[in-house]
Amino acid sequence: MKTLLIKNARNIITMNDSRDKHPGGSIYIEGQEIKAIGKDIPYKNADEVIDASGKIVYPGLINTHHHLYQTFTRNIPRAQNVELFDWLITLYDIWRHIRPQDVYLSAMTGLGELLKSGCTTIADHFYVFPDGVSGEMIDEEVRAAEEIGVRFFPTRGSMSLGRSRGGLPPDQVVQKEDIILKDTMRVIEKYHDASKFSKVRVGVAPCSPFSVSADLLKESAALARSYGVRMHTHLAETKDEADFCRETLGMRPLELMEETGWVGEDVWYAHGIWFNEREIATLGSCGCGVAHCPSSNMKLGSGTMPIIDMLRSGVKVGLGVDGSASNDASNLLLELKVMNLLHNHHHGTTALSAEDCLYMATKGSAKVLGWEDAIGSMEVGKAGDMFMIDASRLEFAGALFDDTSLPVLTGTPQVDMTIVGGKVVYKEGHLLNVDERGLAIQAQQAAYRMMETASKHTKANYLRAR
Ligand SMILES: [Zn+2]
Repeated sequence: MKTLLIKNARNIITMNDSRDKHPGGSIYIEGQEIKAIGKDIPYKNADEVIDASGKIVYPGLINTHHHLYQTFTRNIPRAQNVELFDWLITLYDIWRHIRPQDVYLSAMTGLGELLKSGCTTIADHFYVFPDGVSGEMIDEEVRAAEEIGVRFFPTRGSMSLGRSRGGLPPDQVVQKEDIILKDTMRVIEKYHDASKFSKVRVGVAPCSPFSVSADLLKESAALARSYGVRMHTHLAETKDEADFCRETLGMRPLELMEETGWVGEDVWYAHGIWFNEREIATLGSCGCGVAHCPSSNMKLGSGTMPIIDMLRSGVKVGLGVDGSASNDASNLLLELKVMNLLHNHHHGTTALSAEDCLYMATKGSAKVLGWEDAIGSMEVGKAGDMFMIDASRLEFAGALFDDTSLPVLTGTPQVDMTIVGGKVVYKEGHLLNVDERGLAIQAQQAAYRMMETASKHTKANYLRAR
């Protein structure tokens, strides 16, 4: 097995339970696994040796909620300054023109940006399967993740409640429930690897209370549990969602989850803003996790997650980028600074420290994904997933008084090296497994194509309707 020695780091921030740090420390990795970490380790050589003098090493960040396909619908003028439902209605009409090649290229683009921001594990939620287009588009994301070298947690999303049945999405982007369940089984059987250092774990993820039926929720839960895979969905994101549930189902969003089997240790929700006190207590006692997506919540004016009450009740909280259309970036490091500032502003300056935020994006996220035995902190027996920053960079001069908080408070958008499972995948400004410049050109061309097709389609529909 290939070995890697990272030696003489300025500091190693482990984020283990006692939040140990190792100034002047080294890390020895065999295959994917950390075999030794600390100041005096018994390894002096390896197949590859990295001199980390002047560098600070952190555990790889873990993104618990994303929609990589949305990378091609960022910064669209008509989707700005609107709340979630109007934002979705605008974008569904563009997303319905997505093709498998777009899914691959948008995933490569989003994953590349995440690696450059120190993120090593990504959970993605793919739920748009337009009518008449290959149902195997999620496969394109898995292919991209393997090529670029991340640890990937794709969740097979779904929408079954089209506009004609009272849902929000147009009928052209929803699928029949039997087709959804059959393809979800196919994706799990083809890709899910439950082993400790797996590079692909699959989850089951109906989109939201306003785009799937209660029947699909129930059947998806039964299917996920029959395979022992985790379950994910959007929940309590906006007041509009709570109103929708009350008006169409006569219940609160979390009641819908309780009725359909969607609470438990194996469930995590995205957002979790509009929970009341009783519901937060329920989430804590059931062991549910929540992916916090601060930039998206602020962009869409959705509200602020009651994170302090949630943590106090024992709810597992991880960090997510969401989007990218509701973030406009796929940068988890930037998300840390946003999170820190948001909660200082909303809950007061003593509510969450920068270190607490870093914990949420590493160990916290690992717990949300049920993967804390392997990722989320740097310890012997865990995966060699990490990022490094060079403390000699100009933007850190005058700021070297607390190595743990440094990347959070300074808000640096990029790291200097990212390692996944003992393999360097990004260094000195370049992704190692992809031609970045070529990818950027191809990706923007694909985004233009999708947008032009959508515009032509909208114009034709408008002329027909006149
Ligand atoms: Zn989302």
